[in-house]
Parts: sequence; C-alpha cells; structure tokens
Amino acid sequence: MVDNRLIDELRQIVGNENILTSKISLETYSFDASPYSGRPSVVVFPTTTEMVANIVNIANKNDIPLMPRGAGSCLSGGAIAPDGSIVISLTKMNNILEIDPLSKIVLVEPGITNKQVQLAVEQYGLMYAPDPASQNISTIGGNIAENAGGIRGVKYGSTKDHILGLEVVLPTGDVITTGNIHSQVEPELDLTYYFCGSEGTLGIVTKAWLALSPINPEVKTMTAIFGSLEDAGSCVAEIIAKGVVPTTMEIMDNTVIKAVDDYLKLGFPRDAEALLLLEIDGFPSDVKTQVNSIINAFASNHALSYKIAGNEQERLDLWKARRSVNGALGKLKPANIVHDIVVPRDRLALMLEKVAQMAKKYGIIIGQVAHAGDGNLHPTLYYDHRIPEEVEIVEEACDEIIKETIAQGGTISGEHGIGIEKLKYMPLAFSKPTLNLMKNIKDAFDPKNICNPGKLLPQITED
Ligand SMILES: Cc1cc2nc3c(=O)[nH]c(=O)nc-3n(C[C@H](O)[C@H](O)[C@H](O)COP(=O)(O)OP(=O)(O)OC[C@H]3O[C@@H](n4cnc5c(N)ncnc54)[C@H](O)[C@@H]3O)c2cc1C
Repeated sequence: MVDNRLIDELRQIVGNENILTSKISLETYSFDASPYSGRPSVVVFPTTTEMVANIVNIANKNDIPLMPRGAGSCLSGGAIAPDGSIVISLTKMNNILEIDPLSKIVLVEPGITNKQVQLAVEQYGLMYAPDPASQNISTIGGNIAENAGGIRGVKYGSTKDHILGLEVVLPTGDVITTGNIHSQVEPELDLTYYFCGSEGTLGIVTKAWLALSPINPEVKTMTAIFGSLEDAGSCVAEIIAKGVVPTTMEIMDNTVIKAVDDYLKLGFPRDAEALLLLEIDGFPSDVKTQVNSIINAFASNHALSYKIAGNEQERLDLWKARRSVNGALGKLKPANIVHDIVVPRDRLALMLEKVAQMAKKYGIIIGQVAHAGDGNLHPTLYYDHRIPEEVEIVEEACDEIIKETIAQGGTISGEHGIGIEKLKYMPLAFSKPTLNLMKNIKDAFDPKNICNPGKLLPQITED
C-alpha cells in the first residue's frame, strides 16, 4: 500500500510539482483509450533516469505495483494502472538529446511524442519511419512498449525495426543499456527486442537510440475503388507478388466508405465495396515503374475507377478520407472496440468477407480498415455500452473474429498489444510451452512481478 510515508519519500525524489495524489487527479490517470479503468494510488513525473530508478527502488522494497505511462493512448488496456499502483508518467522526460544526421541516429527521452521526433529530424532530410496514426500524441516510450506500427509499415516495418538501443530501468532498480548504439550492426544477443512489445512489463525505457531513414525525393498517392472485397484483396496480393513495395496500402470497406462519405461528402460511389489507398516513395524513375505496375494490377482485378494525386493538395485530399475514419465512424454509436488481427496476406480478402458476414449474422455495425500490405485488419465493432444485450452480442462477435483469425493461421495483435483486452485469447494463440517461456522471461526481469502486472501474460493453469 502507498501510505503517507511513501508519498513523502516519492515527493522528495521528484519534488512537489511532480506528484499527484488528489482523487480528481488520480481519476484522470485511471484510464487509457480502451474501455477499461484502474485505481492508481499516486502519479509521479520523474525528469531523470536517476529519479526513475529511485522510484522503482521504493516500489521494489515495498512490493508496490508500478506502471510506466506515456500518453495513455493504448487501445488494449496496457496503460490501465493496477489498483494501488505508482504510475510513473514519462511525459516530462521529453527531450531530444542528440541528432547525428551523418549516422542517421537520434537519441531521445521516452516521453517525446512520435510527431515531435519527425519534426525535429525533417530539417536534415530524414524521417523516423514508424508513424502510428496516434503520432501527434503517442510517445516513443509507448511506441516501443507496444511495438507500434504505422501507415508506412508495409515498406519500413514496425517500431522494433528502428530501435538501435535503449536505456532501461529494470524492475529491480538496476539501470542497463541495450543494443549497439553507435552503428546499425546488431550485437549477438540484443536485449532491445525483449522490450519492444513488452507492454511496460519488463522495465521502464528512459532513453532510446532511434534509426532514421532518408526522406525519398518522390511520392505518389493513389486510390482505387472496387466492386468487391475479393477484387481489392487479390489486387493487393498481385501488387506484392509483382515485387512492388508500396509505402502504404490501406483498404476501407463499404461501411467505412459510406460513413466517411457522409462525413466529408467526397462523392464516393455508395455501392463501392472497397477502397484501396496506396502510396509509393522512392527515386522518380523507380516510382514511375511501380505506379505503372499498380495501374496494371488495378485493371486485372476489375477496379471500377482510380485516381492519382497530381500535386500535394490532391495528395492530402486523398489522405483525408483515411485520416477521417475514426471521426466518421464515431458518429454511428457511442462505443466501439477496435480489433487488431493479422492474417497471412493471401487470406486478407477472405477474412474481410468473413467479418462482413459476422456483422450481418450478429446484426451489428462492423467497420473494416486494414493495413492490407501487412495483413493487419482493424475490424471495429460499434455498440451502445449502456445496453447490456448489445455488449453481450459484441463480445460474442469479438470471440468469433479471434477464433476465425487463428483458424486462418493468423495472430491476435499486429500493433495495439494484448494489454488486458486480449489476455483471454493468449492460450488460443500461443502453446503452453511458449507461454511458460514468456512467464520465465518475465520472472527473470521482474522477480517480484511489480512492473505493470496483469497485462500481456495470462495466468497459466496447471494441467
Ligand atoms: C486514435 C488512435 C490511433 C491509433 N493508431 C495507432 C496506429 O496506427 N498504430 C499503432 O501501433 N497504435 C495505434 N494506436 C495505439 C497507441 O497510440 C499506441 O499503442 C501507442 O504506441 C501508445 O503510446 P502511448 O505513449 O500513448 O503509451 P501508453 O498508452 O501510455 O502506454 C502503452 C504501454 O506502454 C507502456 N509504456 C509507456 N511508456 C513506457 C516506457 N517509457 N517504458 C516502458 N513502458 C512504457 C505502458 O506501461 C503501457 O503498457 C492508436 C491509438 C489511438 C487512440
């Protein structure tokens, strides 16, 4: 329990201006972007690694759960404070410590937002490739802990592909540095990867060395409309099979197309079953060749029409539809659950169809957006949380979506994490020996199980 004596000790570490204990303040740190909530005892805002280590030492000595927190934009409940915990908000550790444009490396503190990093490196003609849609608010620490993906993921991969090294405060209070921070060559056993996607359960990231990529001189953005999800899905497969690697390849289904069109009045055909948004970057001659291949794939997969942005304004207009999806669909019902399943790319169209059939079967609204190039689908189920029957139906539909994903050889999270939401599905997705190994890794890093307990790893039953 965090009593007054411990609050005083924490106050001495971070200073009076960096601690919250009032009921109202704690309430604002009791939730993230998922439907769950928790009850922290105190929120602290350290400004140095030493402060973080001292806070962790107090938690460790007194067996108090702690939770590192960035912006709280987690969609799976990973940033829900365990009851009675110390929340360590990293948002005041938000500095860029060094930019090395020659080596294409930036060293940052974990509380800086993804967008702030992008803006800081842009002037050197560089970008930090992972670009989650939450980039304006989500922090680099949260992106690492969730192994965040983004719109550019098809070509550039996810967060873990761009982290050279980390400084981490372990749950024991020890401070370690991982990776090979001065070059892009990986060391033999790179502990960095343990922390990417570990959802704050193995330690607290206090510094990160990020690898940067050059901004390509030419970008082309295109959209195509299809009369069926199957045609859109096989178009994606054909584009990839031809060796074209777009930066972005996103699918929106009919529910989403109509909602976005109602919202923005873009004149999309109401009966269009799928819209594909693609972006290609590279050197001009290479981009031209890729665009031609894509146009051929549109034709052979019966695209009803397509558009290529002729200038930056037209490009932004094409993107507007994709960026407005959450706002447009949010008008349909007061609550939603967004899933984050991944299927092999050749099952993408089939899975989109199956989810569309489930929407009909359960009589609910499911909007589907997919990072098609990665096979990562975001079926979003809309409901009224005040009506228990609707909640029950949506939960049943969620279970069916997950089971179908696994039956198709897929997995339960591409980028949003397991958190609390998908704990119950872990035994479906992973074998018992795999879960046991994950538990042993957790025990090795965090023998007292104080670091964000109750997330990611389910209770394993003996049998
Ligand atoms: C509108 C919207 C759009 C989104 N789009 C995307 C998207 O395109 N791609 C995507 O991948 N996700 C997306 N997300 C989900 C979310 O933004 C990401 O998971 C993001 O990485 C979370 O960052 P955060 O700073 O908000 O972390 P938080 O939500 O505060 O925390 C998330 C997890 O990280 C841990 N954590 C935070 N900081 C640290 C640290 N310094 N050290 C160790 N652990 C830490 C926490 O304990 C928690 O488990 C979206 C969310 C919203 C609301």
